[in-house]
Amino acid sequence: MNIEFDLIARYFSRPAPPGFLGVGDDCALFPVKPGYHLATSTDLLIEGRHFFADVDPAALGHKSLAVNLSDLAAMGAQPVACLLSLSLPAVDHHWLAAFAEGFYALADQSACPLIGGDTTRSVTGTVISVTVMGQVRPQEALRRSAAMVGDDIWITGTLGAADIALRLLQGKLPANPSLLANTRSALEKPLPPWTFGEYLAGVAHAGLDISDGLVQDLGHILKASRCGAEINYEALPIAPALLGLDARLIQDAVLTGGDVYQLCFTASAADRQRIMALAGRASVQLARVGQIVAEPGLRVRASDGALITVGNGGFDHFS
Ligand code: ADP
Ligand code: MG
Repeated sequence: MNIEFDLIARYFSRPAPPGFLGVGDDCALFPVKPGYHLATSTDLLIEGRHFFADVDPAALGHKSLAVNLSDLAAMGAQPVACLLSLSLPAVDHHWLAAFAEGFYALADQSACPLIGGDTTRSVTGTVISVTVMGQVRPQEALRRSAAMVGDDIWITGTLGAADIALRLLQGKLPANPSLLANTRSALEKPLPPWTFGEYLAGVAHAGLDISDGLVQDLGHILKASRCGAEINYEALPIAPALLGLDARLIQDAVLTGGDVYQLCFTASAADRQRIMALAGRASVQLARVGQIVAEPGLRVRASDGALITVGNGGFDHFS
């Protein structure tokens, strides 16, 4: 039997939900609710750039989908289905079985079934491309240009842990096994708040997922919405595993560390109670960290009002 087809049949052909046409035909087919638009996004994960070659394959399967689910959540879209394209240097059955297990576990949890993809042999390392599809009423989507002066700025989850884990694994921080143990899952198995993202549709104004660092990503909202922001540093949700580390290191990880896959969004101050109730319903940790202001630029302040200098950090693939 053809190895490619055998591989697809063995690892990536779980049945699609009723009403869907999944893996096995030239296209997958699936319905979208009346009045909704399809929200779609894609992310590449490249060995040596986005993940270490020896990373746990189950965690990698999880993360490949997670980094896409955060984009749907950031738009206020409900997950509908996903596609997985894999380019592999060789067929490693142990790796594939674990990768598929991790991928399907999160696909089941988020109700985002795998309905197709592509599988090829790569020249060098492993390349993973996932495309997600979701649904959202277009007038309710959280666009980056929708922030309004006076809006609250909110962040889900916590900040900084993934960045510290990455620095430890890269040898950029002195070895610290207990710190790595406490931060590693943030880097390797991020859990974006997809249910809460969907609840925010029609309630929040602007939103995005934090992938390249809070300062850089919030900057996208400020630019698109032609406004500025005041952030209260003490209100930022620092990951508990970072407490006790050097204050400058924490600040750097929290403000500019990437790989977070949590949401930053803005909403009217009149909707505070409603938003906190939605976060409770979705079991999501939520912090109100600042305000949208008219004066352009992002200012981070300590509790005494002093400005905190923000490094030019944030991830740039081409820097
Ligand atoms: P085609 O030749 O039409 O591109 P393929 O032979 O590449 O089709 O794929 C056969 C079927 O398997 C298609 O339905 C495709 O969507 C699906 N498929 C291929 N690779 C994957 C994968 N990694 N995950 C899920 N579905 C896959
Ligand atoms: Mg193909």
